[in-house]
Amino acid sequence: MSGTPAILAKGIAKTYGTGDAAVQALRGVDLQASFGEMVALVGPSGCGKTTLISILAGLLSRDGGKLQLAGTDPDALGNEARTLWRRQHVGFIFQQFNLVPQISVLENVAIPLLLRGERRGESLDRAAQLLERVGLKGREGSAPGKLSGGQQQRVAIARSLVHGPSILVCDEPTSALDGATGQRVMELVREQGCRPDRLVVLVTHDERIFHFADRIVHMDDGRVTREVDAKAEVAALRAAQGMERSS
Ligand code: ADP
Ligand code: MG
Repeated sequence: MSGTPAILAKGIAKTYGTGDAAVQALRGVDLQASFGEMVALVGPSGCGKTTLISILAGLLSRDGGKLQLAGTDPDALGNEARTLWRRQHVGFIFQQFNLVPQISVLENVAIPLLLRGERRGESLDRAAQLLERVGLKGREGSAPGKLSGGQQQRVAIARSLVHGPSILVCDEPTSALDGATGQRVMELVREQGCRPDRLVVLVTHDERIFHFADRIVHMDDGRVTREVDAKAEVAALRAAQGMERSS
């Protein structure tokens, strides 16, 4: 896949509803990203971040614009082919975790492998390894509903990584985690998600995890307004905080 841009998006548009009820969520988004990268999307509530990553994950169709994800346009695939493409290539962490309540934590994490038809024993072993990495060893047999919000979020993170997705999209992946746990989990997301043939697109308000990203893409009102190098943004934030403290 090297040489092919991971994400090539041009003029992506999306409107929900019709007539008086229409909401123009994306008004022509341009975005490019390479494999190996972590891109953080930031912007005010309602500016279109979740809509954009849902389109990038092949979960939602766009109304306009061009999109290539590792050379594939998910909207050009039929429904069945798109589902198979998603199972093969995409991982997601949703804001609402979306765990399946009737099955164990371990089985939840194994879902992406089982859906791909991998053997049950090996899938559960791999799921157990990821659970250990997110600090949930010993909770494999629990029902998701027995876990705290932060623990459920870590199950969702383990599940999103278990099949080694080429593109991982995460919506506020550390929203329910304390600072130290957020850092630990983001180290795992960085290690597993940003390999030479993979990338991560992350929506976050959490400035404490900006330093894991390579680039910060600011959105407002359905558009990308500016892109900055993450190191520069982190340095600027630290300088601003230092000034606040000394004033
Ligand atoms: P963000 O994630 O940045 O908060 P969203 O992508 O969720 O923004 O939403 C962008 C806009 O689209 C908002 O005005 C929101 O109310 C609207 N919107 C999002 N999802 C839907 C939907 N399913 N139906 C109608 N409007 C929606
Ligand atoms: Mg959102």
